[in-house]
Amino acid sequence: MSQQTILQVALDTPLRRLFDYSAGDEPVTVGCRVRVPFGRQTLVGVVVGLADTSALPPDKLRPIRGVIDTQPLLDAQHLALLGWAAQYYHHPLGQVVAAALPRLLREGADAQQHLLYWSATAAGLEALAAGQANRAPRQRELLTLLAEGLSLDADSLTAQLPQWREAARALQARGWAQSQRSLPPQIAPTTDAGAVQNDPAARHALSDEQTVALHAVQQALGNFHSFLLEGVTGSGKTEVYLRLIAAVLARGDNALLLCPEIGLTPQLLSRLRARFDVPLAALHSGLTDSERLQAWREAASGRARIVIGTRSAVFVPIPRLGVIVIDEEHDSSFKQHEGGFRYSARDLAVVRAQRCNVPVLLGSATPSFESLHNVDSGRSTRLSLPRRAGSAAPPTLRLVDLRAHPVQRGFSLPLLQAMQRHLDAGGQVLVFINRRGYAPTLLCSGCGWTAPCKHCDARLTVHQREQRLSCHHCGAEQPMPTTCPRCGHALRPLGHGTERVEETLGELFPGLPLARFDRDSVRGQADLEAAIDRVHSGEARLLVGTQMLTKGHHFPDVTLVAVLNADQSLFSTDFRAAERLAQTLVQVAGRAGREGRAGEVLIQTEFPAHPLLQSLLDGGYAGFAANALPERAAAGWPPYGRLALLRASGEAPQAALEFLTQARALAKPPPPGLQLLGPVPAAMVRRAGRHHAQLLVESRDRAALQRFLQSWLPQVEQLESGRRLRWALDVDPLDVF
Ligand code: ADP
Ligand code: ZN
Ligand code: ZN
Repeated sequence: MSQQTILQVALDTPLRRLFDYSAGDEPVTVGCRVRVPFGRQTLVGVVVGLADTSALPPDKLRPIRGVIDTQPLLDAQHLALLGWAAQYYHHPLGQVVAAALPRLLREGADAQQHLLYWSATAAGLEALAAGQANRAPRQRELLTLLAEGLSLDADSLTAQLPQWREAARALQARGWAQSQRSLPPQIAPTTDAGAVQNDPAARHALSDEQTVALHAVQQALGNFHSFLLEGVTGSGKTEVYLRLIAAVLARGDNALLLCPEIGLTPQLLSRLRARFDVPLAALHSGLTDSERLQAWREAASGRARIVIGTRSAVFVPIPRLGVIVIDEEHDSSFKQHEGGFRYSARDLAVVRAQRCNVPVLLGSATPSFESLHNVDSGRSTRLSLPRRAGSAAPPTLRLVDLRAHPVQRGFSLPLLQAMQRHLDAGGQVLVFINRRGYAPTLLCSGCGWTAPCKHCDARLTVHQREQRLSCHHCGAEQPMPTTCPRCGHALRPLGHGTERVEETLGELFPGLPLARFDRDSVRGQADLEAAIDRVHSGEARLLVGTQMLTKGHHFPDVTLVAVLNADQSLFSTDFRAAERLAQTLVQVAGRAGREGRAGEVLIQTEFPAHPLLQSLLDGGYAGFAANALPERAAAGWPPYGRLALLRASGEAPQAALEFLTQARALAKPPPPGLQLLGPVPAAMVRRAGRHHAQLLVESRDRAALQRFLQSWLPQVEQLESGRRLRWALDVDPLDVF
């Protein structure tokens, strides 16, 4: 009997192992998908290894049900990257592989784009010559077309002979024509840069700093090197990306550009389209499943020369990858913080670049402390763009002391005066408030009752226009009560959200057109583009919005940015809160005064002496970071210490804590240099009807932490008490409290 091949298959199950199957008669190679029996189901899995023997007894070894791919979907290098991710994040490889694939591929859809190509058979050619097709004019016409020696796909046939299908079937039935499935022709690498000059910015002479930055990365093409491009908003970072991509295309290589939220930053995409006349694949959350599959195919086949995408695009295979660019690298959306597989796309992109031997460029006006630390420790090279491009001057930052200038409906007098001044001068004014809805609380003026969420330890947010209360933590909604359910008194909204600020501004500046940017008023890309258009055309004079306004938009006529209140974050217990707040303030400030108009930023605060605000005022983000990094180092928080967080939640109040207590007991005594902190109830204990708790694992040494997790987690998995809970390990968590 000939020796049979054993396939080691990664399946989308929570089990931390591969599954052995015997190969059928069809040839299978590593990286191909197969259909396999699993219990009573049939699952789609990816072959990640081949072996001669299996530990399974022969009668337990089941044959696969079929092979899906004729060519590997994922090459060895890519599988190795996924293997690395599975190990680093301590997540089952099968689930990592599944997370890396579009849903339709997980379900077995064809990975290649097959087209049907039609051609004439030898019999068809003879028949045509003999005039046998003359009685059916359409068949003759089609046969004549095919006889010209070309294989034609459906699209080109439709273009030439709109009603060809019926004729084609008739010709096929007579044996005169045939159709074949085949791959699209391989696209040869273009050697020209593919740059089209309908983008006037392509003709700018680069500033000296831009030139230095571009050359540094260009020199590194073909090798791994990590760069941090630190440049204030409007300093021309994107221009550096575009020229770098042009250089990569000119080498015949392809580029991967990761950005936080494409749907919300259409400007980057349109700049790429204006600059480059090459196929481009965009992968983001706004795609349907089939659009996503299509974009994946374009990228994986190498047809797309530029792949732009959000977090999960870090997993898309790209042949001849030449560079990875990560725009707004500090953005927390690069971290997957839900579900079981919690990865950082930014960190994985760096690992990927290393494995592919290509440079990686991380850009930001407000770099993460991780990236700053990498520069300090020599793992990454800093490239600076300290000045704004063109003639734009940096905005001036000022505080409005709310103790001296009380607010009325959210606005202090100095702020209103500044707004009036900028509006009179023809500028646009941007009002930033980090809270959507009308008001964060509905309060009874009689007994002090506030409307709570039934499922969370949180208050419901008032949405006035819809007359609803909604929970911003679990999404629960209910109609707005008219009187206090406890004492019957009248209720009033307390505090301010974007909806209320819009209303207030409508009264303070009657008739002045306003554009609001938040998740309630901007529900998709079309809404966003419409709102941006209203700002760009000058129709909207006032802009009100949340975080959404801080993301990469370019509003050249905004001359004043007003931050209504950022004080809540000044005293947060989360060690990252200060970094986040500084990033938000600097990012929103960066919207002001681009393109030669001087900008002003006013921040209302009750704590003008707070060190965070003072260091920002004195030294900008760099000044803030220089102060805050040593504090992190002293406390041993990341990037100086390494964290992993085991989170659990259950329906019963104590269940998660009990499980985590047992998990902690498994680690006794913890290895030297490693600490377990907790378990403790989560900052918001009850969320979406479940009780949350967490256990923090901390070490100064990444390798020690990894070794510990490696041996500890399989034991945690065996705990009976974990079966009834939801729990997940988060390596390098962003939110710890
Ligand atoms: P960032 O990405 O850092 O916010 P951008 O690359 O978007 O900056 O540049 C901001 C603006 O300045 C854009 O309108 C861009 O076209 C322009 N710009 C960039 N580089 C130059 C340059 N060297 N000379 C003139 N204008 C430039
Ligand atoms: Zn009451
Ligand atoms: Zn809730």
